[in-house]
Amino acid sequence: MSRYKDAQCRVCRREGCKLFLKGDRCYSDKCSISRRNYAPGDHGQKRGKLSEYGTQLREKQKTKSYYGVGERQFRKYFEMASSKKGITGEMLLQILESRLDNVVYRLGYGASRSEARQMVNHGQFEVNGKKVDIPSYLVKEGDVITVREIKKDNKAIKANAEANEKRPVPAWLEKDNKKLSGKVIKLASREDIDIPIEEHLIVELYSK
Ligand code: SF4
Repeated sequence: MSRYKDAQCRVCRREGCKLFLKGDRCYSDKCSISRRNYAPGDHGQKRGKLSEYGTQLREKQKTKSYYGVGERQFRKYFEMASSKKGITGEMLLQILESRLDNVVYRLGYGASRSEARQMVNHGQFEVNGKKVDIPSYLVKEGDVITVREIKKDNKAIKANAEANEKRPVPAWLEKDNKKLSGKVIKLASREDIDIPIEEHLIVELYSK
């Protein structure tokens, strides 16, 4: 059972960085990366140098784990990013950031992206006054995301809003904790995205 509970931390340890998959624990001293920053398994401390392909693959896996996206969806996002004007890797991150579950997490109403996804799935949010229960829904500039009136007493949302009140919100979002809502000021640009990902490696991988 403990192995199962640690499964998300093992993903972080494999990737060698914090992916913030577990909510409050990720911001505490209990984070496994702070205590054991080496890959899991018997040979975790002796892992050799990765090949070029291996490095690119790990970067893709890390990004997928960070946003909780499966291979098919991720590939679809890459194709969307390729067809947009701009740098493909940056467009890919912008699309991933625009997912509604990510926005709910960034606003602090979900303790982790997976909890935010569950909350969206349960119909707890609306976008521009309309219920949206699709975690992969992509927000646009000007969208207003709000906890639905009938869900405003939800204990988990209220607790997260209170606990995360001081957690900084990225510059592309604006939060109104009293109304349990947030606004997309603009779509995220690369400098707004604080994750240790070298997105050009993913582009190289998919361009082979
Ligand atoms: Fe576990 Fe979160 Fe730390 Fe990752 S960041 S190792 S999920 S506690």
